Amino acid sequence: MNSPVILRESRGATCDAPQVKRERGQREVFCGLTSIVWLHRKIQDAFFLVIGSRTCAHLIQSAAGVMIFAEPRFATAIIEERDLAGLADLDNELDRVVGRLLERRPEIRMLFLVGSCPSEVIKLDLKRAAARLNREHMPNVRVLNYSGSGIETTFTQGEDACLTSLVAELPDAGAQKSLLIAGSLPDAVEDQFSRIFRELNIPCAFLPGRKSASLPKIGANSRVLMAQPFLGDTARALTDRGAQVIAAPFPFGAEGTRLWLQAAAEEFGVSSQLFEAVTGPAYRRAEAALAHHRARMEGKRIFFFPDSQLEVPLARFVARELGMVLEEVGTPYLHAQHMAQEMALLPAGTALYEGQDVERQLDRCRALRPDITVCGLGLANPLEAEGLTTKWSIELVFSPVHGFEQAADLAGLFARPLNRRERLAV
Ligand code: SF4
Repeated sequence: MNSPVILRESRGATCDAPQVKRERGQREVFCGLTSIVWLHRKIQDAFFLVIGSRTCAHLIQSAAGVMIFAEPRFATAIIEERDLAGLADLDNELDRVVGRLLERRPEIRMLFLVGSCPSEVIKLDLKRAAARLNREHMPNVRVLNYSGSGIETTFTQGEDACLTSLVAELPDAGAQKSLLIAGSLPDAVEDQFSRIFRELNIPCAFLPGRKSASLPKIGANSRVLMAQPFLGDTARALTDRGAQVIAAPFPFGAEGTRLWLQAAAEEFGVSSQLFEAVTGPAYRRAEAALAHHRARMEGKRIFFFPDSQLEVPLARFVARELGMVLEEVGTPYLHAQHMAQEMALLPAGTALYEGQDVERQLDRCRALRPDITVCGLGLANPLEAEGLTTKWSIELVFSPVHGFEQAADLAGLFARPLNRRERLAV
């Protein structure tokens, strides 16, 4: 398979160097606070306290849905405008809010102070606040901080920042060689992967874990398999702790999942017979389930706006396993090292864009009129009104889409908007 043409405004690049077209302009992406929606479900005894404005509170409530009957494990401490003297009181106010919260919710074992963009919040030293609160509340509650600010993070980078803050807390693994899967996965998917690794005789743990007390260990003999493509800082923090990241594509689709598992199996010396015995049946089931979707999707043209950082692996999946035609693949950031395996699997000539100039990209999308456009919520409605069929990229992050068993569901997420458009046209 040929490598894709990667378009880059070349400055001193050689002919052989991959080229990425980099765009800098207005972006249309949610901020990192959005990731609290799936992170609070994953870490079952953690609480996310956003230090922010009313805007932040509205965003997080509308993204998560207002939970009337359940006690949610996230909230916003709203910081109003204040003068310098008022700022000095903020630390005390924050300590009071946290004290009240932990008294009322004794089941909380981990508290994340999540920073945001309002200028009053930027002036606050949340790292120092977390250290102070830790002294007060450890060992019952571990207090950590990270930023979900829209100035610093897009929506999936919120998870990256959260997991990076967790890495410093991971206990040392000593000499034991083990596997760490990095990236939050729905519990059902985590269970499937756990079972596969157990059958392959590979000791493995997940970051984040479901409970704060069960933090995975990390050390020089740890090997890391990335489950999500948007965890560049987490990967760096893990390698700083001595771990090695295993180069692999991401586990989307039958092929992607097999290659992802195979990379770990090779690293841990699993025989090809055992690998085939453990993964073969599930791989073939996934392929058969995808064949049905392929018949429907083959030749359909797809356009990815940059949003979640899942774009490159998803583009590889829809092109290779569903036969779709990639009109354009945009991604907010392209981590050359983590994406190398994915990019090598893209069809030759794929147009890859890093960053965003939303107006120019909209112009290209309108000119191409793809069969389906994957984009953020803010762009979906206007494009639908213009007669284009869209898929919300955030749905691809919320839904269980990794692994063999979910391969057909992932294909279904792309097929559904097309089916709906066709039904409406009848
Ligand atoms: S963090 Fe910034 S971008 Fe995100 S909701 Fe708050 S104000 Fe808006």
